[in-house]
Amino acid sequence: MSSVNSTTISTDRVAKQRGIPTRCNCGEKVSRFTSKTVQNPGRLFHTCPMGSEKDKTHLFKWTDESVVEEIEDFQDLFDVLLVDNSEFQKSLTASETMLKHHESRIEEVEAALARSEEKTVECINELKIIKALFVCCLVIVFMFLTYP
Ligand SMILES: [Zn+2]
Repeated sequence: MSSVNSTTISTDRVAKQRGIPTRCNCGEKVSRFTSKTVQNPGRLFHTCPMGSEKDKTHLFKWTDESVVEEIEDFQDLFDVLLVDNSEFQKSLTASETMLKHHESRIEEVEAALARSEEKTVECINELKIIKALFVCCLVIVFMFLTYP
């Protein structure tokens, strides 16, 4: 009966403070100690200044169990990071593809712009020729009208 109660309380504590604990429910900071009992000689545990393995009102947690929880949580986090990294790699590949597409579009626009500039220069030259012809025609008409 006592063992069942102990297990239940221990499970509650684990649920409340997963991993290496930092504070007891009473508000005190917890510290790490080494067990000197016959059942657990040399085993590390965390407890507050008022806690003990038998006093269930204060935090008492075996450090090896806390470390296992820390490793499990880290493994979960690592799995999430792996998935995130995979998603990031996919996103990066898609971005690189889009970037190459945009670069080719920019090259196309630059080529079109260069062709447009060439056409503009051709048009300006043609306009100069037309202007010169128009001036020649005006001079001829003027001469025709002034010399009888
Ligand atoms: Zn306490």
